[in-house]
Amino acid sequence: MNIDDGFIKNLLEELHDGLYIVDRQRIIRYWNRAAERITGFPASEVVGKPCSADILTHVDAEGCNLCQSTCPLSEVLKTGRNTDAEVYLHHKEGDRKPVSVRVIPMRDEKGQIMGAVELFTDLTGKEAYMLRVKELEVLAMVDSLTGLPNRRFMENELSTRIEERKRIGVPFGVLFIDIDHFKKFNDTWGHNVGDRVLKYVARTFSSNSRPFDVYSRWGGEEFIGLVRNVHADGLAGIGERLRMLVANSYILHQGKKISVTVSMGATVFKDGDTSQSVLERVDVLLYESKFAGRNRLTLG
Ligand code: GH3
Ligand code: MG
Ligand code: MG
Repeated sequence: MNIDDGFIKNLLEELHDGLYIVDRQRIIRYWNRAAERITGFPASEVVGKPCSADILTHVDAEGCNLCQSTCPLSEVLKTGRNTDAEVYLHHKEGDRKPVSVRVIPMRDEKGQIMGAVELFTDLTGKEAYMLRVKELEVLAMVDSLTGLPNRRFMENELSTRIEERKRIGVPFGVLFIDIDHFKKFNDTWGHNVGDRVLKYVARTFSSNSRPFDVYSRWGGEEFIGLVRNVHADGLAGIGERLRMLVANSYILHQGKKISVTVSMGATVFKDGDTSQSVLERVDVLLYESKFAGRNRLTLG
């Protein structure tokens, strides 16, 4: 049996799951990198040995040693049918590791069984734990009401944009967006209706933005958009379109169409700016929009 084909070999080496191949005599012929990682045994210590030679010594949930009883590999070699099992394998450092195992027969051109492939997935808590940590990282960056990136994410994103502008000169602009008279809106319609409005306003930003721009919920009824690769006119155009879309959106509540407007400040990041200076400037511009009567954008 020859596992020489470069492409297939590379593929097998890149697998996240452990994989090994045995011949009819259950001699291990191939052992991939994930198998090394999951079991602790390097290929050099196992290839050429029979798999029952005190290497993995699978046991089932009852502790039966499968090498001496119903070894999934010998079953497959005998019956030619795929087999799935959950077993505990022996790690080189001594402990037992839960794995799910799938064994597939390998046949020659005449259909004769010439060996079997065992694919095994690590089921240890560690893997699940790492996945959970990743999920939590994602959750920590997302606002749970609107699903937009949150303030923490935006602070990182702003630093990244500033770096990018300094290094390779990509211009970007900031939109600071605040819902008008939202306290009064809540007082009139109730907090739940207010929440529905926050959600559709957020969706207006996310579904009408270019893929490389980011809108976040900065807090309460305030949003920040980072618009990439624009100069002042383009930024004002993008902001104005979003302002118009919000002003023309509504929900039906008790048979009435109800809606909100937003005010915006818009500014382009300039030489000498810091994240603090650009946020302060755009905040003042937003205030000017409020002072001038709301439902408008002030560029500065
Ligand atoms: P202005 O036009 O000057 O921005 O007036 P405003 O009433 O929007 O401003 P203010 O900052 O006084 O009030 C913001 C209100 O936003 C207060 C609060 O009731 C509401 N708000 C903040 N977060 C939430 C939320 O998560 N859900 C709901 N429903 N309302 C919120
Ligand atoms: Mg506000
Ligand atoms: Mg407001």
